[in-house]
Amino acid sequence: MWKKTWNDPVGSKLISVGLGTIIAFLLAFIYSRYTNETFEVVFEKIVFYKVEIELYIAILIIFGFFITQAIIRKIIKFFKDGRPERIDPIQKSNQLKIDDFIKRNNIKRYSDGFTCRYITQKSKYDILPFVHTLSFFCDLHDTPLKLFGDRCPDSSCKNNKRTVNKHIEKNNIESYVLNDWYSIDFD
Ligand SMILES: [Zn+2]
Repeated sequence: MWKKTWNDPVGSKLISVGLGTIIAFLLAFIYSRYTNETFEVVFEKIVFYKVEIELYIAILIIFGFFITQAIIRKIIKFFKDGRPERIDPIQKSNQLKIDDFIKRNNIKRYSDGFTCRYITQKSKYDILPFVHTLSFFCDLHDTPLKLFGDRCPDSSCKNNKRTVNKHIEKNNIESYVLNDWYSIDFD
């Protein structure tokens, strides 16, 4: 349809006049914004071909400025977020091993019925993990009882007479954690 209209002498003339008017309108709008001349004056100048050479040059400079700016923006955008971030596969694999280590459910059972559950965390400043929280329980009940102080809260339990030295146990557990950490096979 476009081709047919373009080949038709009346149609092509209409398109030319239409496009010409739109272009003249845009040019007049831009030029009048950067000069003292009003839109009407510039528009009239363009339409009636009373255009001076400087006006064309000014328009070219303005368009050139906008086009260059648009291109530079596109280039900056491309380099900023156009490229997907590359993740080093070795680094990723090692990170997964660290995550597994930290997330695992740590539990230490003692022969006398005491149990210690603990959480390890990775230090922000030091690569080595540390024991974050320790909770001691007496396992000689249907529901393991959390120790009250350093002994089982149930006075009828034999672990009510025994005590756990939490400081020594924390240190021992940290030794196990570090030993496990050093045995991780990092890539
Ligand atoms: Zn108990």
